[in-house]
Amino acid sequence: MITTAGSLLFAAGAIATTQPAATGLGPTSFAPPGIFPTSVYKSYFNNPTATSAQPQPVISDPVLHSVYPFALTNPKNIPQNDTKDPHPLPPVASSSQLVQAAITQIESLFTNPVFGSNTCASCQAILEVLKFVSLAAPQETPNLVVLLCEKLDLSSNCEDEFGPLTLGSTLTQVLANADVGGYDGQAICGNFLSLCPMPTTSPLNLTGWFAKPKPNPLPSPKKPSGKLLKVLHLSDMHIDPRFATGAEANCSSGLCCRENAFNKESPQEPIFPAPRYGAFLCDTPYSLMLAAVQAIPVLTGTEKTGFDFGIYTGDLVSHDAENELSRDYVMYAETVLYDLLKRILGTGPFYVALGNHDTHNEAQDAPHSIGGALAEQFSWNYDHVTSLWQHEGWIDEATVQLARAHYAGYMVRRTDGLRVITLNTDFCNSNLFNYINLTTSDTSGMLRFLTDELQDAEDAGDRVWILGHVLSGWDGTNPLANPTNLSVISVDRFSPHVIAAIFFGHTHEDQFQIFYANNGTVMSAETAQTVAWITPSLTPLTNLNSGFRMYEVDSATFDIVNAFTWKADVNSFSDLDNQTEVGPAYVFEYNTRETYGGSIEGFGPNDPLNATWWHLVTEAMNTTTSLVTTFNTFQGKSSARTTACTGDCIQARICYMRSGSASLAFANCIPGFGSVQ
Ligand SMILES: [Zn+2]
Repeated sequence: MITTAGSLLFAAGAIATTQPAATGLGPTSFAPPGIFPTSVYKSYFNNPTATSAQPQPVISDPVLHSVYPFALTNPKNIPQNDTKDPHPLPPVASSSQLVQAAITQIESLFTNPVFGSNTCASCQAILEVLKFVSLAAPQETPNLVVLLCEKLDLSSNCEDEFGPLTLGSTLTQVLANADVGGYDGQAICGNFLSLCPMPTTSPLNLTGWFAKPKPNPLPSPKKPSGKLLKVLHLSDMHIDPRFATGAEANCSSGLCCRENAFNKESPQEPIFPAPRYGAFLCDTPYSLMLAAVQAIPVLTGTEKTGFDFGIYTGDLVSHDAENELSRDYVMYAETVLYDLLKRILGTGPFYVALGNHDTHNEAQDAPHSIGGALAEQFSWNYDHVTSLWQHEGWIDEATVQLARAHYAGYMVRRTDGLRVITLNTDFCNSNLFNYINLTTSDTSGMLRFLTDELQDAEDAGDRVWILGHVLSGWDGTNPLANPTNLSVISVDRFSPHVIAAIFFGHTHEDQFQIFYANNGTVMSAETAQTVAWITPSLTPLTNLNSGFRMYEVDSATFDIVNAFTWKADVNSFSDLDNQTEVGPAYVFEYNTRETYGGSIEGFGPNDPLNATWWHLVTEAMNTTTSLVTTFNTFQGKSSARTTACTGDCIQARICYMRSGSASLAFANCIPGFGSVQ
């Protein structure tokens, strides 16, 4: 169009100023007429001669044979974002392309100098890559993790630990759901890989957590009846039905006393052939299990009467490698051991908490909040154990239903008024699912359940015993800080008037922990609220004797009035081989009141061994360190392999006894002295 413009130069109305003829140029100035040269374009969207707006000629494209619409150039309404012709995206990657890209990106993260020595940043960045693979191609994550595990030399057996048939699928679910770039990721990198500092305990939002404030004053304590109940406490039996007598009992890795166990120094010939009744690095063989079943009623004087009831604080299954475990193997142990518990006990019921080994994969339980089918993936176990407990006559149908809805945790109100609340403490420990929304401190709702049950008990004026497997405090190395920090708040709210005692297992050692008011800001006989008894294991693993305990309990207050502990000397078991005249002897180890009570003023022979009493024991230990030595001996069940507790260990142990939560232990205590190993 513009090429035709030349013919318009001298249009009518133009004003030209003449140039002297000699220059050969045109006029010295020129102004076209004020009217738009409307003939240039065939048509217009508006009136081209108007003086208030620019002309909008209709432009047609000679190549596309189309007219550009007025909307394209309308100055009053400029179109935004070309939605007609978007820029192209790369094609969707196939699963194998995703994995390849993930590997390349992870390699870049390893070599990128920007991360320098910040292992924590690298670790969380790698988790981010794994998260998106887990969302887009979940079936690829386990193999990718195995590859990473091998590259980082995290295990000698990566496939057996993280492959699709072992922990790989669980890990993929967690990666897909956790905030791996935030708190969850830092905790994963800190706890499992030591590549991040552990994140600090999250602040609690307690708004609405309690239905009512703590009563002030507290209701007056119940009057003791003076009548004593006999209660058996067993824990961590860990039966090993695959125990191979004569196999290596001094193996260099994994579970010993198995056909495949060996010592690197002597791979062909066992250095220490497994005795028939067990050994320090092995779980409980049938022979030892049945020796205990026979000994317990005789030693406790309950052969004729039976116990009033029993409590079991978890762990039935042996410590097999992850790839040797299965649902069937877990259900086998549940079937065998609940039956044996019934035979030991006689008539009374056993109240049972699940341990981290009483599931498959080991220590894994999914919170309901994960949603959909994943929320039901462990129902097989809750259904199985609750049905067995009902079969043994320990709980009724309503309790079965309650337990199925709370990960096998339940509440029983006994006819004598005691309420027993059992918890599934996999929601406070190394369970991978706990790393999804860890900042909430109670993703599973387990502590909500506990707190609601405690409120019910308070309203009814009942006292409560709480059973769990993994302890909430001591040296803090077993549970997770966030949930235990919340749990001690609930324990304080309902102690001492509701919670009479708490019971745990898990460490296999004989320990206790005291809970104080106001999250332990002042630790004294006055602020001590309740106590958790951590009972020794029946299994000798690791380097311990085999043991069990009985309490004498006031039938009205449900306070513990005394505790008696027995043990069998595992060091002598090889002497019992090659004969059938005599089995292993369980012998009385100690009487709790007599052992520690001599130094406690103001407690009569029938006063309870409550938190105040135990706090006074720790004060006595502060001045008489021989009491710590005694405690240390019993902590290992008088095992020949128990190491001494001296120096820093003494203060550390007393500090652990006063730590109801992991966060308190971390804040107050010297680390590294939790075990007698
Ligand atoms: Zn255990």
